[in-house]
Amino acid sequence: MSAKKTVVEVHKFGGASLGDGAAFRHAVTIVQGRSAAPVVVVSAPAGITDVLLGLATRAVAGEKGSREALERDVAELRKRYHTIARVAVGGPAGKTAQRDKIGQGVTAEIDRSLDELASLLASLAALKELTPRTRDFVVSRGERLSAQMFAAALAAAGTASAYVDATEIVFTEGPFGGASPNLALTDLAARKRLQPLIAAGKVPVVPGFIGSAKIDDDTGGSLEERAVATLGRGGSDLTATLLGRALGASEVSLWKDVPGLLTADPRVVPDARVIPQLHLREAAELAYYGAKVLHPRALIPVAGRPLPVFVRPFGDPSGPGTEISARRTLDKYPVKALSAAGGQALITVGGNGMLGVPGIAARTFEALHREGISVSLISQSSSEQSICFAVPGGAGKRARARLLEEFHDEIGRKDIDGIGVQDGLATVAVVGLGMAGHRGIAARVFAALADGGINIVAIAQGSSELNISFVVAATDAAPAQRAVHAAFQLAKIGGGAATRAAHRDVVLLGFGQIGRALAGIMAKESKKSLGGKRNGASKLRLAAAIDTTGFVFDPGGLTARTVGELADAKQSGRSLAQARGGRPATPADALTLLSQHALANPILVDLTAADTTPLVLAAVDAGMDVVLANKRPLAGPRRQSSELWEKVAAANQRMLTEATVGAGLPIFDSYRKLVESGDRVLKIEGCLSGTLGFVLTEVERGRSFSQALRGAMDKGYTEPDPRDDLSGADVGRKALILGRLLGFAGEPDDVAVESLVPAALRGIARDAFLGRLAEMDADWAKRATAAKTKGATLRYVASVSKDKISVGLETVSRQSPFFGLKGTDNQVAFTTVRYRKNPLVITGPGAGPAVTAAGVLNDLLRLT
Ligand code: ADP
Ligand code: ASP
Ligand code: MG
Repeated sequence: MSAKKTVVEVHKFGGASLGDGAAFRHAVTIVQGRSAAPVVVVSAPAGITDVLLGLATRAVAGEKGSREALERDVAELRKRYHTIARVAVGGPAGKTAQRDKIGQGVTAEIDRSLDELASLLASLAALKELTPRTRDFVVSRGERLSAQMFAAALAAAGTASAYVDATEIVFTEGPFGGASPNLALTDLAARKRLQPLIAAGKVPVVPGFIGSAKIDDDTGGSLEERAVATLGRGGSDLTATLLGRALGASEVSLWKDVPGLLTADPRVVPDARVIPQLHLREAAELAYYGAKVLHPRALIPVAGRPLPVFVRPFGDPSGPGTEISARRTLDKYPVKALSAAGGQALITVGGNGMLGVPGIAARTFEALHREGISVSLISQSSSEQSICFAVPGGAGKRARARLLEEFHDEIGRKDIDGIGVQDGLATVAVVGLGMAGHRGIAARVFAALADGGINIVAIAQGSSELNISFVVAATDAAPAQRAVHAAFQLAKIGGGAATRAAHRDVVLLGFGQIGRALAGIMAKESKKSLGGKRNGASKLRLAAAIDTTGFVFDPGGLTARTVGELADAKQSGRSLAQARGGRPATPADALTLLSQHALANPILVDLTAADTTPLVLAAVDAGMDVVLANKRPLAGPRRQSSELWEKVAAANQRMLTEATVGAGLPIFDSYRKLVESGDRVLKIEGCLSGTLGFVLTEVERGRSFSQALRGAMDKGYTEPDPRDDLSGADVGRKALILGRLLGFAGEPDDVAVESLVPAALRGIARDAFLGRLAEMDADWAKRATAAKTKGATLRYVASVSKDKISVGLETVSRQSPFFGLKGTDNQVAFTTVRYRKNPLVITGPGAGPAVTAAGVLNDLLRLT
């Protein structure tokens, strides 16, 4: 059968994402954008399941005046569905006869379903009884209408679709309200029903959360009779994985209102981060222990199958999200995530006589099982004096009553003291596969809680060592999670490495010539390290590059090939947003998105020439170290640069700046060594512009000024607008940065700068300026000859002390060290207390993408 060969993907859209008609339309575009054959599973729109449950409960409660209130609420619900359907099916493209017909069909379904609801509620009010089976029937319309609206929205948007009711393909066992799927039956039925539709090019749309249950409870019905049953709250996730399994899908995507599976619930831990990849067992553990992002049993159908499940951001469809699969990555991170379940009660069965009496534990859990109470956490002290376990808060009293009955005799004999119930608790689970291999994880968890002043009521660690769980007062659950999250630095490295992470993720801000040069070096080094040769650079991983239009990001590191492609794209005038894998965003948004990711010890490298201070501050806030080649954040108003340094220091992070002055020359490094060895720098003088050095030595050799400048631009020496160099502004900034090192307290305006741009050419556009370069040639030829006749030459010199900074053109004699400089060479002379007569001089090439990239790389290596 050809349908078998078709690549199928299952896409589930969660209720939280499907709030209104526009959201349905957005989901439709996601489905239409996939190349594989999609199967769609939908939840009820946000909040509707709760509304339906509330209506049913209120109907049986039958309070006075409630009938009118219920009718009003049903009318309200009807209106909400109509509005969603109108927008989902209609949309901005306007009405057509075809759309009208589709719209009428859905409206009729909505009305039918809500009329049915109204009469159901009326009979509930009369009967005053709400069975789990009826409750399931009431809420099932939430997802059913949702799926019908979705199928209609697809059709209206030109994609052939088919509504398939879940009761035809999902078969369940067990109780209403929390049924389990029968995998074998579901596999068969789903394949039989869906494959022909897929083969016919249709997109099947299936309501999540519900299935078909055999009616065999004592309320009657023949064994053959079936009724709709729900899979438990959040059950649409499970529907999606069931169908993915049945159809042999290539992947299942769960589209949610979060950027992925996070290290913790973001509502509780604000600095939670996206985990790029999680092992199935870890994700299952999180779901089971209450992470409200996945249905607890959602991963059972995919066990042992090559079927990755992705939690994807609905609001950002090209975002990477989280992969849940059988791969084991991030091995270095023993702890990956936390979750908590509130509303727990702790039951204690205790007494001296329990010692050595076999079967107490077995009888305890057997009794609870028969009572239908599930136990989430068990701990037994080794002295066997007590067994202690958590049950859902609502079941606490029932559990106690049942156990009092069970142990009636033992209690009478005083073998068991009694059954204790403690309410108002929460269990918190700390999860990670790597915990098994690392010592001291539990100690770190409990130390963090102790430091936070949080009292632990009970502890359990499963033998799998995949999970450490503890019970705290419900009111302590949030602070407990924040404390553990911080202790394992989950916000920083997405896993809390007991050892330092093996690499650091680098984010490039700016992908011009220097950015491309640096990316090239890094990509090449990381390739080499695969061959077993390890050096410092192999500890750096290029995770993302951002430009003004957008960004590219690969949590696994951009490959040499990708970097090559990106560089080619940029070279041929395309932006990162337009490049393959590129995504449009402002730099600020790109940075926000990246910082939500579990990057490993991330470093932001600023290679722009723009005023990026707010971005750099945001990066520091997000826990990144910073390497600057961009001078502006350090050369603006004094308050601004001080704030930046203070922030970096307060966060206990680092910011390195070597490439801001002198490209790859070790200027800051030398300064630091002087100061660390007890010397004091009095004055720094130098030729700090590779561009001006190049232009002036070319003019000295008789070339025209305009040609010399063009040459400098072609070689990538100049700033984007060469007037930044010629005006002295760029050198002024470098001088100011050095001055601030010496304690200069002034503002940029306090730097005396001599501009080499004639007044007439200052205010005009860059292109106009470039067209008029030749106007300057005659003047420069004259100046050069004048200097030469004196046996001297022209240099652009900066002079920096704590009190005064000036930069400008000087005629330097043969005796000056600056006389002999060639091309882009920079020279910096430190006059210090020790080197007072004979300054310490550093000379070398001071401009160009390659040497600047090398300077940046040096800083990066200092951070590894
Ligand atoms: P759906 O719309 O698919 O039903 P849910 O509302 O069930 O989605 O799940 C998403 C919600 O789960 C998020 O809004 C988030 O607040 C919560 N959540 C709890 N723990 C986590 C976690 N570890 N990662 C991501 N989201 C989480
Ligand atoms: N609508 C159901 C709920 O709110 C199921 C789901 O959303 O997956 O729990
Ligand atoms: Mg859900």
